[in-house]
Amino acid sequence: MTDAARKARWIGQLKSAGIGEAAVDLRHILLAAADDAHVDDMVARRARREPLSHILGDKPFWTLDLKVTPDVLTPRSDTETLVETVLKHAGDKSAALEIADFGTGSGAILLALLSELPNASGLGVDISESALAIARENAFRNGLEARAVFRTGNWADSVEDNSLDIAVSNPPYITSAVIDTLEPEVRDHEPRIALDGGDDGMYVYRFLLPELFRILKPYGRMAVEIGYDQAEAVSALAGAAGFADIATTRDLGGQPRVVSGHKP
Ligand code: GLN
Repeated sequence: MTDAARKARWIGQLKSAGIGEAAVDLRHILLAAADDAHVDDMVARRARREPLSHILGDKPFWTLDLKVTPDVLTPRSDTETLVETVLKHAGDKSAALEIADFGTGSGAILLALLSELPNASGLGVDISESALAIARENAFRNGLEARAVFRTGNWADSVEDNSLDIAVSNPPYITSAVIDTLEPEVRDHEPRIALDGGDDGMYVYRFLLPELFRILKPYGRMAVEIGYDQAEAVSALAGAAGFADIATTRDLGGQPRVVSGHKP
């Protein structure tokens, strides 16, 4: 078979499995594969709707290259909006800021912030030890290990009052009943614990926002990722927790994606 015929067959295989961006996915697979047998294997996995990030084992996020496994949520480009929002409000970029990221997963948000704030140090908290192992590898992979600490915890439980300049989170926020309607890549392959926000998707925000308020220093900033229809409800919870200057930022697709505010 010619190169073109082989490519057409692989693309056909992906398309008949319902993959929209078949040509894009194949390009990534061809770049990563050692030989045709390896491509065959990767295409077959993708046709079974395994996420491309799990097949390749990594995913670019911000300027970083991150290791990704089924133990962590695959970083989404939408989440870069959260990083941008924090940086926009960060003021003096060379300050010795203390940052924490709750439900850090792959470490994506924390590591992106540390890469832009050269004197900041960060804490990434997650309930999952296997996620933290990936986050630590990602810190080393990107040369940020000296400024990043990752530890297990239940959200902000172990963090002292008034101790942080910046607190961020991309918590699980999808309504439980919606998860089974999502694409198979998400529904069958990503950690449910990173997605499931309870009956109304708001479960975590209710306790997390008061906790973020507690651990921030005065003038400290919080930013959380939200679902496209949660801006009003999450802003109201942020206000009730005491935050001021509450704002919503939209992602590149135009959807509300981040709620942020500061402690007075
Ligand atoms: N944005 C993710 C998705 O739709 C959800 C991430 C989350 O719940 N924090 O797949």
